[in-house]
Amino acid sequence: MHFAGIDVGSTTSKCVLVQDGEMIGSALVDMGIGTAGPERAYSEALAAAGAVPEDVACCVATGYGRSSWKGADQTISELTAHGLGNHFLFPDARTVIDIGGQDAKVIELDANGRMANFVMNDKCAAGTGRFLEVMANVLRIPIGELEVLAAQAEQAAPISSTCTVFAESEVISQLASGTPVPDVVAGICASVASRVAALAKRVGIKEQVCMSGGVAQNGGVRRALEQTLGVPIAWSSQAQLAGALGAALHACHKSH
Ligand code: ADP
Repeated sequence: MHFAGIDVGSTTSKCVLVQDGEMIGSALVDMGIGTAGPERAYSEALAAAGAVPEDVACCVATGYGRSSWKGADQTISELTAHGLGNHFLFPDARTVIDIGGQDAKVIELDANGRMANFVMNDKCAAGTGRFLEVMANVLRIPIGELEVLAAQAEQAAPISSTCTVFAESEVISQLASGTPVPDVVAGICASVASRVAALAKRVGIKEQVCMSGGVAQNGGVRRALEQTLGVPIAWSSQAQLAGALGAALHACHKSH
C-alpha cells in the first residue's frame, strides 16, 4: 500500500510516495501553485516508484496551494507537514528552519516531533527564497551557483537594507563600486540568514537545529545561519521534499 504527500508551493511542486515507512519515490517540479506542476510532480513520483494511481491508498496535500490540488483526500498545514517530515529525517531535531520561495518559518518540535511553537514571516520577501531569486537575477547567476560563489568570498559585503527593493539597489551600487561578486553573494546569503535568525531567536533555539525548504540547498545561507546562531545546522539533500514527506507520513498514520 502506497501513501502520497504533495506539497504545492509558491514556486515548486514536490511529491513523495511512502511505503512501509520508507520513501519509495519522489519528484520535484519547478512550477508551483496555479500551474501543471502538482499534477506533474504526482505522476513523476508515481513513475519513479514504478506505481500507478490505484496503488495510492491515501494522498495528503500541503503547501501554500494545497487547496488547489484536487487529487488529495485531505490537506494539512505546512507547519504540521514540515514538523513531521523533519522529525523523520532528523529524529533529534527540536528546531526546524524552513525557508521556501515566499516565506520562512521556524518550528519548535517537542521530543516526539510534535509542533510546540512557531514563528513565521510571510509578509516580506527579505529572508525568503524570493530575495535570493531577485538578487541572482540582478547578478545574472543561476540560483544554484550562489553557494559556490559565496564560498569564494573574502569578506561578506554588508547589505543593510531590510527591504528587498532597497537591497537590490544596494547590490547594484556595490557592483558598480567594484566589490567582488563573491563578496556581494556572501552578503546576500548573510542578509537572508540574519532575517531568519531574528525569527529563530523569537522561538528560542533548541538543538538539534535542522533546515528544510529550497533555500536549505544553499550552503552559503546555511553557513551564515550557523555563524549567526552559533549552532551547527543539520541538513539533508532531501530538505526541499520535507513538507511532501511529512504529508505522505500523515497519510500513512491516519490510515493505520
Ligand atoms: P515553495 O514551497 O514556496 O515553492 P521551496 O521550499 O520549494 O518553496 O523553495 C523554493 C525556493 O528555493 C526558491 O525561492 C528558490 O529560489 C530556492 N532554491 C532552490 N534551489 C536553490 C539553491 N540551490 N540555492 C538557493 N536557493 C535555492
